[in-house]
Amino acid sequence: MPDERYEEAVRQVVELLGQFNHARALTVRQLSAYPKRFVQGWEIPGLCGDSDYNLRLLVTKGFPFCPPRVAVSPAPPVLTWPNLEEDGLLCLLPESAHVSISDPKSVVLSLLDDAQGLIRANIAGDGLERFEDEFHSYWIRWDKTKALMSLLCHPKGPSRWVSAWHGKNYTLVAENMEELRSWLRNRYGENTAKKAEFQSVPLIWLPRPPHPSEYPATVSALMSLLRSNGVDQEMVRELLLDEQASYKTVVLGFDGRHGPGFAGIRIHEPKSARHSGNALMKGFRSRPPDRVLLTRYSACQIVGARVVRYDASWVHGRDHNDDVFALGDKSVVVVGCGSLGSTVVELIAKAGVGKITIIDHDFLGSENVGRHALGVSAVGLRKADEMARDLATRFPHLTIEGYAEPFERFPEDKLEQLYSADLIISATGSWQVESLLNSVFCESEQFPPVLSGWLEPHAAAGHAIVVFKGQGCLRCLMDDLGNIRFPVTEWEDKHTMLSIPSCGGLFQPYGAVELTHVHALVADLSLDVLLGRVDGSTHRVWLGHKKLLDRAGGKWNSAWADHHGNPGSGSSLLDVTIERDPECPECGGLG
Ligand SMILES: [Zn+2]
Repeated sequence: MPDERYEEAVRQVVELLGQFNHARALTVRQLSAYPKRFVQGWEIPGLCGDSDYNLRLLVTKGFPFCPPRVAVSPAPPVLTWPNLEEDGLLCLLPESAHVSISDPKSVVLSLLDDAQGLIRANIAGDGLERFEDEFHSYWIRWDKTKALMSLLCHPKGPSRWVSAWHGKNYTLVAENMEELRSWLRNRYGENTAKKAEFQSVPLIWLPRPPHPSEYPATVSALMSLLRSNGVDQEMVRELLLDEQASYKTVVLGFDGRHGPGFAGIRIHEPKSARHSGNALMKGFRSRPPDRVLLTRYSACQIVGARVVRYDASWVHGRDHNDDVFALGDKSVVVVGCGSLGSTVVELIAKAGVGKITIIDHDFLGSENVGRHALGVSAVGLRKADEMARDLATRFPHLTIEGYAEPFERFPEDKLEQLYSADLIISATGSWQVESLLNSVFCESEQFPPVLSGWLEPHAAAGHAIVVFKGQGCLRCLMDDLGNIRFPVTEWEDKHTMLSIPSCGGLFQPYGAVELTHVHALVADLSLDVLLGRVDGSTHRVWLGHKKLLDRAGGKWNSAWADHHGNPGSGSSLLDVTIERDPECPECGGLG
């Protein structure tokens, strides 16, 4: 950071603070009580009404580019008030706040003003709802929050029994055992999933997030928190009395003004004096009556668990993306996992498509890595298997399968997966495969829409065509060799494919960056189909920048320009009308 900017900003602050009575610089010792990043600070007494609190202004070497912080002194314990962090630091600005760089005086005045208001409200006991709005920030600061819980449950009530797996470092909780097993298999492999043991645990849905004064340090405090609901209390009692439940884990969920939230709880069995046996059983030869057990449990200590959510609603949109719920129920088959298909698969997985099947028999070569979603670590492995494994590890809540077989040999017993899919995406770049798929599409009475994506030479243009039953087919737009009737681009040298020194080693020269537009084109149309935004055959075209065309020695095709208008400088997206071919040898214009 430029020293002169820091020094000038500090000079202005000192000048400003000179106008406050008794404002003074913090001593080295006072400053050392704060995290090391603060290099200078000042105390400004008398701004917090009649209270004994003073405000302190603290700056880092990054000032004025990093806004100053305000602390209250003496520092009350964390969780005494909302918006209070360790060492009395006040949380006044969100991390994303934009503050003036050129006018540090106004920044300081505004922060001191906010701090005054906050302290006054806190002293008056107002604004406790802020404990609810930022529940997680406070829960993790509770001195009993020491454990970790990963959660896959739906972020809504009512209270219910869910399933838990207690791992070495954390507890994983899902709606049911199948979800747990599938997540573990995807994340850690078949061995972990096979060996895993599961347990039912209560998920209690509270009417609002608890305040720190309500954080339950003991079982009896937990029962007090749940006292408004006898059913919830009964679920906890059932857990405590369940001898099979070796871990007594409870999940608390709630709706807040800023969205739903969760907290985890683990109940520790009562500690017994050394050599005196099980404290729960003390004085009884066999299991004591429930009443006695519950009384003994009531003083048991509770450990809080920080919850990390891995459910689709959170992962794919922080609870603010309604499309997630529709996409989570969709099934997509992607044929072709090359430079186009691999990233399209990745994009629709990121969007949250619940079930994806990838079909490709090819191996990943080192020459593929520059344009493929997989990297060098997958060279020599089957693209479909590796892509499915890679995505399943990254998105374990989704179901992703790979078939390393040619499409024409897709197993008979799996055909149902094709017919029942919501969409089939073809990204093979092979007319043989595309025409086979198109033929199956035309012959079947019921078949999902088929979306074909491909690129013109040098990725100077890209196409995404989706056909629905009864509304034409891919062949309506192609000749017998799979050439589109009206390509966007035209090349003086018709042989745009380059060779490598091996049999059939032809490839289209284009880079990963040009390709990205076509990834987006195909993935975007796929989501439009899945979400019902497109419900009829559609042809969308990406026209690359003309500069790319010029560099590569191509030009806009005059027949395309006559039909759809001159693309000019390009870089545009077009929806073009699909003209069915009434003479189409495959669909006769119907599909
Ligand atoms: Zn047709």
